[in-house]
Amino acid sequence: MIAGPEPLLEVQDVVKVFDLPHRGFFGAARRLRALAGVSLDIYAEETLGLVGESGCGKTTLGRIIVRLETATEGRVLFRGRDVRARSGTTNSADRRSIQMVFQDATGSLNPRRRVRDIVSLPVRAGGVVAPGLVDDHVSQVLEEVGLPSELGGRYPGQLSGGQQQRVALARAIALEPAVLVADEPLSALDVSVQAQILRLLERIRERRHLAMLFVSHDLAVVRYLCDRVAVMYLGRIVESGPVDEVFDHPRHPYTVALLSAVPSTRQRTDVPIELAGEVPSAADIPPGCPFHPRCWKAQDKCRAVLPQLDSLNGARVACHFPE
Ligand code: SF4
Repeated sequence: MIAGPEPLLEVQDVVKVFDLPHRGFFGAARRLRALAGVSLDIYAEETLGLVGESGCGKTTLGRIIVRLETATEGRVLFRGRDVRARSGTTNSADRRSIQMVFQDATGSLNPRRRVRDIVSLPVRAGGVVAPGLVDDHVSQVLEEVGLPSELGGRYPGQLSGGQQQRVALARAIALEPAVLVADEPLSALDVSVQAQILRLLERIRERRHLAMLFVSHDLAVVRYLCDRVAVMYLGRIVESGPVDEVFDHPRHPYTVALLSAVPSTRQRTDVPIELAGEVPSAADIPPGCPFHPRCWKAQDKCRAVLPQLDSLNGARVACHFPE
C-alpha cells in the first residue's frame, strides 16, 4: 500500500433510507435504513475490504460510490471533489475514475450486445481514447483480462461465468479508473474459477496501480487481498483497521464472532461463536448498540447508548466494552 497524505476516495457520513410499501391498507409507512452514517477513506493503490453478513449495507454503499444509488445524506468525494455536484468534463472524468464489477456478471452485461461492443461503447461515450484508437484499446484490454480476441464477437450467453466476469472487468478497466469497487466478484463462480479471477484482480490492481473497495463475505480472501478492512453491521461500520490488526486482534464482539466462524481466521476461540437470533431488520433497528440483542457482552449501557467509532490500538471500534 502507498498511502498518500490525502485519501483518493472519501465516503462521508453516508445515510441511505429506502421507503418500503405500507403493510396493509391502513398500515404505517415504513422506512429501511440501509446505511446509518458510514464514513471511510480509500488511499491511492490500497485495497479496503468491506465485510459483513448479507443485508448489512455493503452492496448499497458500493452502489452509492459509483452513483447507481443516491445517498439520502452525506457525500462521496473523489480527489476531494463531490462527484455528484459538478458538471462538465472534469466531473465526467471523475465519474469514469470509479468503476464497479458486480457479483452477478451475467446480469450486468447486456445479453444482446457482443463482447467487443460491451467494452467499446462506454470507451467511445466517455472519450477515453481518440475514436480511431478505440478498437486497439479494446483489444489490449481484452488481452489484459485473458480473453482470446475471437471471443470479442460472442454474446454474453455464449460465455462461461468466469469469462463473463472477465468481460465485466474489461469493461471497467477500459475506462482507465483509479478506483475499482468489486462487489463479491468471486462468489457466483466455481471455486477453481474463483482463484483465477482473484489472481487476475491482483494483476490488474498492481499493473494499473488501482485502489480497490473489495466487498466480500469471504474473510480468508479479504485477509489475502486487502490492506485494511471495515466490518459492517446493520448499516454501520463497527470496526476498521489494518487487516492484520483486525484479524489478529478483533475488538468488536461481532468481528470476533465473524472471524470465529472461519477456521483459517479463527483467533480468539477454539470453536465458532454462535450468535443468538437473526440479524434484525434494517426497518426495525434496535436502540442503543444495534448488535446488543445478539451480543454476549451486552450490558444496560449497550441497550441505551449508541457506541461511536473510537480509536483503539491502531484500529477503530464502535463498542462500549471492546475485547
Ligand atoms: Fe456488545 Fe455492548 Fe459492544 Fe454492542 S456496545 S458490541 S452490545 S458490548
